[in-house]
Amino acid sequence: YSIEDLAQLIFDLKNSNPKADVSVKLVSEAGVGTIAAGVSKGKANHVLISGYEGGTGASPQTSIKHAGLPMELGIAETQQVLVMNDLRRRIKVQVDGQLKTGRDVVITAMLGADEFGFATAALISMGCIMLRKCHLNTCSVGVATQDKELRKNFMGKPEHIVNYFYFIAEEVRELMASLGIRRFNQLIGRSDFLEQVKEIDHWKAKYLDLTAVLHRPDIPYKVPLYNSEQQESQLENVLDNRLIESSKKAVYNQIPVRFSCLINNTNRTTGTMLSSLIAKKYGLSGLKEDTIHVDFEGSAGQSFGAFLSHGVTLRLEGDANDYVGKGLSGGKIIIVPHPDLDFIPEENIIAGNVVLYGAIKGELYLRGRAGERFAVRNSGANAVVEGIGDHGCEYMTGGRVVILGNT
Ligand code: SF4
Repeated sequence: YSIEDLAQLIFDLKNSNPKADVSVKLVSEAGVGTIAAGVSKGKANHVLISGYEGGTGASPQTSIKHAGLPMELGIAETQQVLVMNDLRRRIKVQVDGQLKTGRDVVITAMLGADEFGFATAALISMGCIMLRKCHLNTCSVGVATQDKELRKNFMGKPEHIVNYFYFIAEEVRELMASLGIRRFNQLIGRSDFLEQVKEIDHWKAKYLDLTAVLHRPDIPYKVPLYNSEQQESQLENVLDNRLIESSKKAVYNQIPVRFSCLINNTNRTTGTMLSSLIAKKYGLSGLKEDTIHVDFEGSAGQSFGAFLSHGVTLRLEGDANDYVGKGLSGGKIIIVPHPDLDFIPEENIIAGNVVLYGAIKGELYLRGRAGERFAVRNSGANAVVEGIGDHGCEYMTGGRVVILGNT
């Protein structure tokens, strides 16, 4: 899966909830800066660099012991790559992985973080004693268990966590004052405040050279070192704005509507913002069948009908790209070849790869073949198709797929 796929996923998520920020979590490791640059170009609002020391008590031992690198390495590389490519201003960099003190916050901010995640320390402040068996339902201090008797042992109070974070903030404030820093943003990316302690005479530390970690890219003064701009949402020009306008009677008064619309392959994630509106108002049950019926003509871009709600029918004369009906949530999609074309439909591909990925409900009818990974992770949608590529129906746990041709 490529960085373009990730950008498409970010775009799908923004369409499925235009008010939500999208955060991409990356493991701290060599090369993470390049991926973070792709995440920033892909228009995510946050990128989280997760250090190797984190993980819940339920994580497998192999993950706890062997996955990832210290957060400091990942955060330093991410900051350097983003700043050098002037991609830093539009994304918030988050960090987690055993942050415990105000000093940790200040150091990771100097290496480049805007936001900080605390998990273990916050749990401990309300009573966790790190037995590391959160998944066994036997947590003896009642933090991570559904057992009624054990839950009686839980002594935590919200005030404990509030207090803990007050202390963190206080320590950060004190350290900032000692450095002569007024605003937190002025601290971000200031790795020149950090220096390696040379006197440590331990055999493990003897050959450590932190020059690369503490490096500050040589960039023009104007390039911001922290998140100073809102990331573009890219939602202003999506086709759904027109679909929503034409479907108002249906969405607000449940009066059926039917209309036509031209589409081309730059129209991505069509039907998703409309579905998000319906889902917010009516939940998963959506509207009555066929309340909104749209007749499209042309070539649809990626994620046509993604997360489509019940009550919406999209009929397309033409063809579609990858991810048709991804996460389908009750809607109906019909794709037939354009009447002016004279190829044999059952011998030609009408929809791309990963059609119906993760669908949970709804119907899909394709007059033609689909690409690879058809209906992967489908758990409830029904589909009829005239042939598919490799890996069809993998991890499918529900729904029904009828393939009238080769697989
Ligand atoms: S004490 Fe409870 S919450 Fe803490 S690690 Fe153990 S099982 Fe998990």
